[in-house]
Amino acid sequence: MDNVTYACQGEIAIATIDNPPVNALSLGVRAGLMDAIERAGADPGVKALVIIGGGKTFVAGADINDFGKPYAEPSLYTIIDALAACAKPVVAAIHGMALGGGLELALACHWRIAAPGAKIGQPEVKLGLMPGGHGTQWWLRLAGPEAALEVATSGNPVGVEAAHKMGMVDKLADGDLLAGALEFARQLAAEGRGKRDIDALSAGLKNVDSQLFADFRKKNERKWRGLLAPQKIVDCLEASCHLTFQQGAALEKAAFQECERSPQSRALIHLFFAEREAAKVAGLSPTIKAAPVASAGVIGAGTMGSGIAMALANAGIAVTLLDLSEAAVSRGMEAIRKNYATSVARGSLSPAAADKTQALITASSSYADLAAADLIIEAVFEDMAVKEEVFRQLDAVAKPGAILGTNTSTLDIDRIAAATARPESVIGMHFFSPANVMKLLEIVRGAKTSDTVIATTMATARKLGKIAVLAGNAEGFIGNRILGAYGDQADFLLDEGALPWQIDRVLQDFGFAMGLYAMRDMAGLDVIWRIRQQQAAKRLPGERYSPIADRICEQGWFGQKSGRGYYRYEGRAATPDPEIEALIEAASAQLGITRKPIADEEALMRILCAMVNEGARILDEGVAQRASDIDVVYAYGYGFPAYRGGPMFWAEQYGLDKIYEAVCAYQRAHGDWWRPSALLAAAAKGKKRWPD
Ligand code: NAD
Repeated sequence: MDNVTYACQGEIAIATIDNPPVNALSLGVRAGLMDAIERAGADPGVKALVIIGGGKTFVAGADINDFGKPYAEPSLYTIIDALAACAKPVVAAIHGMALGGGLELALACHWRIAAPGAKIGQPEVKLGLMPGGHGTQWWLRLAGPEAALEVATSGNPVGVEAAHKMGMVDKLADGDLLAGALEFARQLAAEGRGKRDIDALSAGLKNVDSQLFADFRKKNERKWRGLLAPQKIVDCLEASCHLTFQQGAALEKAAFQECERSPQSRALIHLFFAEREAAKVAGLSPTIKAAPVASAGVIGAGTMGSGIAMALANAGIAVTLLDLSEAAVSRGMEAIRKNYATSVARGSLSPAAADKTQALITASSSYADLAAADLIIEAVFEDMAVKEEVFRQLDAVAKPGAILGTNTSTLDIDRIAAATARPESVIGMHFFSPANVMKLLEIVRGAKTSDTVIATTMATARKLGKIAVLAGNAEGFIGNRILGAYGDQADFLLDEGALPWQIDRVLQDFGFAMGLYAMRDMAGLDVIWRIRQQQAAKRLPGERYSPIADRICEQGWFGQKSGRGYYRYEGRAATPDPEIEALIEAASAQLGITRKPIADEEALMRILCAMVNEGARILDEGVAQRASDIDVVYAYGYGFPAYRGGPMFWAEQYGLDKIYEAVCAYQRAHGDWWRPSALLAAAAKGKKRWPD
């Protein structure tokens, strides 16, 4: 078979999996493994079989191209059965990764040896799935219920050194892995040690205290809100304590199939592919190469600038952090120091690693220090005149070819670029707060941004561990423009009869990480207020406008930082505020609106439809390259529930025709704010899908 080579060294057969890049369990690999198991079993000269991965890894999991398709034979189950029936010892030799189905293959082998530094894990939960090839049963019996719960519900891999202590790996290789595996196999064959006695491994399980599972569910209640797969995993592990291995495996398979059929898994798999698609820039010549970025500058040592400096340093890039004065930059450096100290105190970073990373960040108050930087990112006040001045100075000092990025959230990239004599080097890099943590980076191409600058910025984003999405230079780009649309719609709902805590509850029940109004309070209401004031002149006569947000700001209530906003705060704890209720009622009266109760379903649908209609407009205008990019922006930057796949995927599942009808009905009832996007209309009448 092409993907598995079979050879013998003396009395030991070796099956080497060869399916680059990650030896995924494709049909070719599965067929090759079946063949090897049968050959080794039938050959009287063979005493044991070693299964090993060629290249960089053992097996990193199922073949992603098989997702959602019927599993062709031989399936992993068939291989597992063949291994169980094999009378000769079978050893899995693990290096790199053994993940998901790859780990289950290794677990079905009778014994496991691993190379130092290798990792094993069950990442299925990240795709809304769970182990389905006996993974839960082996973890439970070899490593115990605590480890089984942790590994299967987090999806995070475990180093083989720890896995060895847990009992998941039998031996650690101290030299060449294949040589160690052959030696181990010879020894097992000589001692006549075949499969392990599963019943003996299961003996203690029935005494496991069920409180353990109840506590684990409680601990993760918030994190798992609305999620099916982790709940199924815990149920399966708990029930399996009282079942035989085979009964537990049958239960696992049924639960796996339920997860596989669930809309959640489809949504998470959609995002998995969407994330990869987002990295592709349409129309970029394949000969364009990203330039190396070894050093960077950041201008503005405030909230965003210090976070961006950390994101760069964490990726090993040396950073010069600059602000107007030494005092201002010292404040930024102090915030950075505190941030690393917290990571060390939490145990997520070693003191040595923190020191090494922090040492990459140098403070400065002189533009001359940026002369050698490959990439410079501006994060000063959101004010066009200030940004133009910064870019004029940058133009004077930056070396030719340096990328000049701006972290503006609302301003016109082309105007900023026009302050330089090299607009081709200017690009938007819209980070999200906190910039060293949030995964999303909107990269905004200006009219003149060069292809090399786009390619280098996309590659740098990957180096920073970010998920980059390319956006066009339109007000609000992708994320904030949609936020503006559904934020307005939510405000209209307040005018008509809803209250902020109702809207927030409805959004959280749908699965949003946070309610809209709680989010505004956290970001600071004054920032958006300033933007609204700037935009006031552009508002058309008769255009619908809710005055509530302005009324709140006029009280000096700017959200969490001032203790009051849409909510009242004690620390971060928010409580509904009767004075806000009165303020909203007064605003409705002033608008001449008779308030009436708004059903939760109506509130939710109006907000989601506003999101989707604006998303369709953005797509139609080419501000987003593809519908799935909008989903990535929303799932990673705006708290949209990943298990619903993002607003555009959700809309397709719901039915674009039904969304279109709802938008038309809202237009009839509430006016032209609801004009349906031409693309939504066309998609609703056509294939009922967004264009590819
Ligand atoms: P901030 O007020 O915390 O920091 C701005 C910093 O820039 C201050 O330290 C200030 O001293 C410095 N500065 C001002 N003018 C300067 C100049 N001419 N030269 C050098 N330094 C100067 O603001 P922030 O929240 O970090 O926002 C910075 C930028 O990032 C803005 O464009 C904002 O729209 C954008 N942004 C903010 C967020 C957010 O959540 N805060 C998110 C995305 C983007």
